[in-house]
Amino acid sequence: MLASLSSGSWSHLVAASLVMLTWGCAASTRSVSAKRDEAMMHEEAAPRPKPKWGLVIHGGAGVISRENLSPEREAAVRAALAQSLQAGHAVLARGGSSLDAVSAAIHVMEDSPYFNAGKGAVFNHDGVNELDAAIMDGRTRAAGAVAGVRHIRNPIDLARMVMEKSPHVMMVGDGAEAFARSQGMEWVDPKYFYTEERWQSLQRALEKERETQPSAPASSLTPGLDPVTGDHKFGTVGAVALDASGNLAAGTSTGGMTNKRFGRVGDSPVIGAGTYADPRCAVSATGHGEFFIRYTVARDICARVEYQGLPLAEAAHVVVNDVLVKAGGEGGVIAMDHQGNVTMPFNSSGMYRGVIGEDGVPHVAIFQE
Ligand code: ASP
Repeated sequence: MLASLSSGSWSHLVAASLVMLTWGCAASTRSVSAKRDEAMMHEEAAPRPKPKWGLVIHGGAGVISRENLSPEREAAVRAALAQSLQAGHAVLARGGSSLDAVSAAIHVMEDSPYFNAGKGAVFNHDGVNELDAAIMDGRTRAAGAVAGVRHIRNPIDLARMVMEKSPHVMMVGDGAEAFARSQGMEWVDPKYFYTEERWQSLQRALEKERETQPSAPASSLTPGLDPVTGDHKFGTVGAVALDASGNLAAGTSTGGMTNKRFGRVGDSPVIGAGTYADPRCAVSATGHGEFFIRYTVARDICARVEYQGLPLAEAAHVVVNDVLVKAGGEGGVIAMDHQGNVTMPFNSSGMYRGVIGEDGVPHVAIFQE
């Protein structure tokens, strides 16, 4: 699969990705060492093809049912995903870096009310939007992350600033915002993040909590569950890109989970959990963050590629559809390797997602289609 995907055209690659979404990645019965040998032989025998540059994005995974998604809403989400893909593509097409493409794609989704990041972020238990984001440069393994920020319109920009303008990797809360101010970053009123839909989700969650668990400790709550629709709607956004120079980057941005408490931080800004990139493999995740942190999902996928020689799609499939499923962790990932192979597995009923290659045609999907 490695050889056929990497030497095929982008449309083959997209088709392969979408086929994987439909059918899942059939588990191979060959031994790990045989597969590793095969992968190595392909690399030695075949002249290394020019990397197929491109971009893959997600806008969150969860219980996304056709009944609960109106045609108008679906069209709007699809349009926003296509716009995000095109923004990233424009950067890559002019020879820009994968880091810039990831930032551009995430910006579009952070500015849209349809995703749980930036403008559409969910509310925490106290009715406040607290945002997390991370970005990582696969070429250098430089990384930047922020958590719990309340006044930053595009947290992905602040994460990048942490990476490029500080000696640190992660900053949180007031400290992260003081750093943003020191760098002259735009400051927005928290009202900017208000959307009626997210507010009503919080009200329903609070009501349900009062009815059913008046004295339960916070740890017994189910963050992200909409008690009326029964839906887990995560909605985090992420992007992974490979540029014409063969460099990978990954980024993720989120409002976290509705009704989160006590400064809770999910996986998105945790390098190796929700976001990871190295010279050969890059991943952005979405789902129930606590599981993604404990199973170091993004790094686990890339480690299987690195140490076991597994094709990217197989590594991602095992982690999302086996390891996470057994643990009870709902969600999905987007991932790309340095040869341009793409995979987008998820174990929930839907994941907003899309991919774009050199031809500039956006491919968007929501359900298991
Ligand atoms: N992973 C995010 C978190 O746990 C939520 C999401 O993906 O929507 O904070």
